[in-house]
Amino acid sequence: MGDAMTLSAMLLAVSFLPYFEARNTIANYVYAPPAEGAEQVKCERPELRAVTKCPACGGTGKLALEEPNFGQANGRIGGPRKTTAKCKVCDGKGKFESYIPPADLTAQVARDREQFASSHQGRGEIAVGQAFIPNSVYGELEKNRKRLKLIEEAYGKPCPKCQWTGIEACRKCHGEGVADCPEADCKGGWLVTKTTTERSHTSSGGSFRGSGGMRSSGSRRSSTKQTNVNVQICPTCGGAKKIACPECNGRRARPCKACSGLGTKRKSGGL
Ligand SMILES: [Zn+2]
Ligand SMILES: [Zn+2]
Ligand SMILES: [Zn+2]
Ligand SMILES: [Zn+2]
Repeated sequence: MGDAMTLSAMLLAVSFLPYFEARNTIANYVYAPPAEGAEQVKCERPELRAVTKCPACGGTGKLALEEPNFGQANGRIGGPRKTTAKCKVCDGKGKFESYIPPADLTAQVARDREQFASSHQGRGEIAVGQAFIPNSVYGELEKNRKRLKLIEEAYGKPCPKCQWTGIEACRKCHGEGVADCPEADCKGGWLVTKTTTERSHTSSGGSFRGSGGMRSSGSRRSSTKQTNVNVQICPTCGGAKKIACPECNGRRARPCKACSGLGTKRKSGGL
């Protein structure tokens, strides 16, 4: 429980507001440069890697497994076998060092952007591209399209692919970090195999005395087939039904290719 609270707190700690504000401060330097010796504005996106709960075990590091009955338990006394196994997906740690779930991040960035915009609008500021400048400044610069363009460019535009985040969700697992167990015989985390044993019985037929001596009438062979169902914890997923996504190694995402992880749109034909 304590762990779960820490994890959710970490998710909430990610905010793009300071980043949007920093970009805006820099954009506003176009008409009012900072005083000499003023502290430089840090314009960094928040840390997007976080320790997140293992999606396979829900953060416990363990899996409570109950053996399903595929026929192997018929006639067995007592209920289904229950066992607790170490979660193989997270190696029992219950958590993952990965990117914040990309879908959550996208929603968070959209919220932060909205809050950024509404707080500046609330101060009566005017939007110049993605930036906001005071109403009075806008009045002065209105006829100076070049200046306004510089302000717009100083703020920049979001990468259309990743919307400021600089990461893109893994396509194989859609940002889940896990993939379904690839083992063909894995049924819900249990490896179900059937083995057929064939037992042959030889029953010798009678013999009779013929002209050439003892003759055998031949032996009759019969066989009985027996199918054994063998159920064991799937060695591939360890009962989790899922494995860490082989494409992203559980990291859920990777730096966005379109913007090389910068999060901003590249200037076309620019530097
Ligand atoms: Zn786990
Ligand atoms: Zn993946
Ligand atoms: Zn499996
Ligand atoms: Zn991008």
